[in-house]
Amino acid sequence: MAAHKVICWDCGAEVEDPFVNTCPRCGGLLTVKMDLEKVKEMKPEDLRKTQIGVWRYAPFMPVDPAHKVSIQEGGTPLYSTQALGEAIGCKNAFVKFEGLNPTGSFKDRGMTIGVSHAKELGATTVGCASTGNTSAALAAYAAKAGMKCAVFLPDGNVAMGKLAQALFFGAKVLAIDGNFDDALALARKMADERKLYLLNSINPYRPEGQKSVLFEIMDQLNYDIPDRIILPVGNAANIWAVYKACMELKEVGWIDKVPMLTGIQAAGSAPVARAFAAKEANFEPERNPETIATAIRIGNPVSGRKALKAMYDTGGYCTTVTDQEIIAAQQLLGRKEGVCVEPASAASVAGLKKLIELGVADKDERVVCICTGNGLKDPNAIIDNCAPPVKCKNSIEDVERILSQ
Ligand SMILES: *Cc1c(COP(=O)(O)O)cnc(C)c1O
Ligand SMILES: [Zn+2]
Repeated sequence: MAAHKVICWDCGAEVEDPFVNTCPRCGGLLTVKMDLEKVKEMKPEDLRKTQIGVWRYAPFMPVDPAHKVSIQEGGTPLYSTQALGEAIGCKNAFVKFEGLNPTGSFKDRGMTIGVSHAKELGATTVGCASTGNTSAALAAYAAKAGMKCAVFLPDGNVAMGKLAQALFFGAKVLAIDGNFDDALALARKMADERKLYLLNSINPYRPEGQKSVLFEIMDQLNYDIPDRIILPVGNAANIWAVYKACMELKEVGWIDKVPMLTGIQAAGSAPVARAFAAKEANFEPERNPETIATAIRIGNPVSGRKALKAMYDTGGYCTTVTDQEIIAAQQLLGRKEGVCVEPASAASVAGLKKLIELGVADKDERVVCICTGNGLKDPNAIIDNCAPPVKCKNSIEDVERILSQ
């Protein structure tokens, strides 16, 4: 474990109480300040002796591997997606497929660090509010750690695969009468009363694990730094984590330039994109967010201000895509690359297509789209947009008739 402290991102105060999630002095957002002095003496190759995955990057993580709770998260493929790139007008497109994590989304990267830290603190009950993937991941890691787990979900608004996972891993699943933002407010109240250890991304340890996706991309590209990285933005912690990882690699001298970090939101749920268009440092919450991409249906993103800084600081960008564009990109990934992602994840690819059309991204840029979650999480979103199976008689003639259509 690298030495570190938790500080307030807004006022800089050091925060000692490991159970608070906002600054006791100013109410600001927390973040982890890593002490990377020892890493400065290392090279990227020094870490390649261990299997690729979150814990390869332990020197950048604020948790002692002695408390490791792991299901071998990370180490996901980085595909060179030429056929997809040709279809959307980008010559050098890559897809980092986070759907191949143990529970099927990048949330596992944050949870291995978050739950390991909870274990370090001696917590016995963990909890989170979730649009689905956070709860699936937390439920699995809590099971692995032998902890009790409570998840707060917006009633009726969670994709089937995700709900199934939370139930399957033995979490107490609470269907809250309200949307995600309401569920989070309730989970935070429980945490404030110390009734559970909260593992939403407002917890400063979770984004630390999520930094590893950037470390892996650099490893997989042999530190040939991409021009741009595109991510879907919901609660906005992941793009912040990627930014933080870039800053830390720069601090230790492993990179000298930083990719343009680009966030994509769904048109019906776009508080960060609107703030970016207005060049604001803060955003106005959206009261009734709506999109087929349930993982980014979030009106009041906890890390929205951090995400805006990440995009401004790197010369990045933020825009929106419609549900139609999301579904089209999801299908393109399937038909051109054999990759099945959930709708929120396809937003990054839909976003790349739009950026090229807008002239914001150049067709020669090397771009990595992070595809955050597995398509099997949300089978309804797929079946609703595919032609149904074809009725066929039990005969070769009928098969041939259908295949020739
Ligand atoms: C959580 C999640 C997102 C959004 O990530 P944020 O850090 O909240 O911006 C996007 N896609 C999937 C599949 C997710 O599970
Ligand atoms: Zn503060």
